[in-house]
Order: sequence, then C-alpha cells, then structure tokens
Amino acid sequence: MAITLEQVAKTSIDTLIDEAALQARVRELGEQLSRDYGGQDLLLVCILRGGVMFLTDLMRQLSIPHNIDFMAVASYEEGVRQSDGMVRITMDLLTDIQGRNVLLVEDIVDTGHTLSRVLDLLGTRLPASLRVCCLLDKHERREAKVPIDYIGFQIPDKFVFGYGLDMDQYWRNLPYIGVARSDPASGP
Ligand code: 5GP
Repeated sequence: MAITLEQVAKTSIDTLIDEAALQARVRELGEQLSRDYGGQDLLLVCILRGGVMFLTDLMRQLSIPHNIDFMAVASYEEGVRQSDGMVRITMDLLTDIQGRNVLLVEDIVDTGHTLSRVLDLLGTRLPASLRVCCLLDKHERREAKVPIDYIGFQIPDKFVFGYGLDMDQYWRNLPYIGVARSDPASGP
C-alpha cells in the first residue's frame, strides 16, 4: 500500500553520508574520469531515476567533453524493497552506442541483478567500451558477479535514501544519504 504524506512527514532520518563527504567524493570521481577519458569520446548513461542527482553533480566535475543519455529499468514494485532478480527495461536509450565509450552511472548496486541485465543488453549493441560508475556499493548483498570500475562509497547492508534515491518514491531531494532511524520504543 502507498505511504501517506503523514507517514512521510513523521520519518526520522539519520545521516549515513553527509553532503560534504558526497560532494568531495564526486569531485574526486570527476577528476579521475576526466583523466581516464581525456581525449576520448564519452557517453554517460544514467539509470533513472535514482542516479539522476549523482549524474548532474558528476557532470559538473568533468572537465572533458561528454554526452548524456538515460534509460529506466524496473527491478521491483513500489513498496517492495527487495530486488527479485527480474529486471525490465521500461525506457530505452535514444543514442546509438555502437563504437562509443559508454559509462553507466548508477545510484546503488545491491544484489547486482539490475546492473548485470543492463550490461548484458548494452554489450549486444557493440560499444567501444562499457564501464560502470556507481555511487554506493552494498557489496555484502551481491548475488550477481558484476564489474564496477568506479565506486563512490562501500556501504553496509541498510536501506538508504536521499541524493536521488527514494524511500517509497519520497526523499530523493535530500542532499545527503540517509537511513530511517529505528524507533527505540519498537524494540530491537
Ligand atoms: P540490485 O538489482 O543491485 O539488487 O538493485 C539495484 C536497484 O535497487 C538500485 O538501482 C535501486 O533502485 C534499488 N535499491 C537497492 N538498494 C537500495 C537502497 O538501499 N535504497 C534505495 N532507495 N534503493 C535501493
């Protein structure tokens, strides 16, 4: 069932990664990517919707020319916070990626099923190179083996939101990564 606005307003949030730490790491990633792709073609592919704030901040830290495009995938239904390994492409790229250097910009890699499916699909389109830049890596939850070339932060196995990531479609606007504070009254 959809969450009510009243429930949203009552959410207590703890900060997992604050705004300054996020911005500092995104700057480092931008500098590294600018070095690695210097003098080369670069197409950033953002997976909607969670990756969008990371993409726009990362773009501002790139000192090299690049293009962007978007795709959307659905890994699970609203209100269910567990990927089931079934991933659907719900919006495809507009760009022909054959012969392009593609960098996938992802918000978070959890089980890895979503990324694995997207990499398989894009690989069939014969890009010159296909790499992955993800902001958050929940390494201990991995089920599918996926190569990640650039990682912002390794995080523990907690459900996180903010900075583009949602909790029940809310809180994407937070400038930091948060976790819901568990209510001490509700026990361990
Ligand atoms: P995976 O297929 O790797 O299990 O899941 C990837 C997708 O699940 C992410 O792109 C994201 O949409 C969602 N996801 C996984 N963990 C979290 C989390 O802690 N918070 C949020 N908001 N989404 C998550």
